[in-house]
Amino acid sequence: MQPEMIATTRAYIGLGSNLNNPYKQIKQALSALKTIPKTEFISHSSLYQSTPMGPQDQPNYINAAAILETTLDANTLLTHLQSIENQQGRERNGDHWGARTLDLDLLIYGEIQQKNIKLTLPHPGLHLRNFVLTPLNEIAPNLEIPGLGNLQKIINNISADGLQILEKAP
Ligand code: AMP
Repeated sequence: MQPEMIATTRAYIGLGSNLNNPYKQIKQALSALKTIPKTEFISHSSLYQSTPMGPQDQPNYINAAAILETTLDANTLLTHLQSIENQQGRERNGDHWGARTLDLDLLIYGEIQQKNIKLTLPHPGLHLRNFVLTPLNEIAPNLEIPGLGNLQKIINNISADGLQILEKAP
C-alpha cells in the first residue's frame, strides 16, 4: 500500500507576554509549541523587549516569533495556540490592548488569506507592528506575506522605536 501524502504547511507564530515573569512565559511557550501534535518546530527568533501599544500604564513586553511546519488545518492550530495561552494563565477580559501573561498569534498560515472574527490571515496587525515584523525578519528574511508583499519592504516603512534585543537566538 502506498503511504498517504499529507500536505505540510508552514506557519509563523508571534509570541508576546508582559505579566508574571514574561521571560519565563515566552520560554515556556516556545517549549509548549514543540509539543503540538502533527507539527514540527523549525526555529525561533531572538527574544525582544518592546514598549506597550495602546495603554502605557502596563509593563514592557517580551516578544518573539517561531516557524512551525504542520499538517493541522489553521483552525485546529489556532485552537492549540489558545490552549497553550490558557495553560499559562491567560485571562480573557475583552481588553484588546491590555496586559497578558501570554499572547500567541497565528501570523501566517501558508498562502491563506481570509477575514473572519475567529481567524484572520495573515494576522490583521502584522504589517504595523515592529515587535512582530523584526523577529519575523530575523527567522524568515525576504518572506513574501500573502496579500501584503515583501517583508523587507514593509519593515523599511516601520519605526524600530521601543524595540531592543533581550536574548539572541542560539
Ligand atoms: P487577542 O486578544 O489579541 O489574542 O485576540 C484573540 C482573538 O482573536 C481570538 O478570539 C481569535 O479567535 C481571534 N483571531 C483572529 N485572527 C487571529 C489570528 N490570526 N491569530 C490569533 N487570533 C486570532
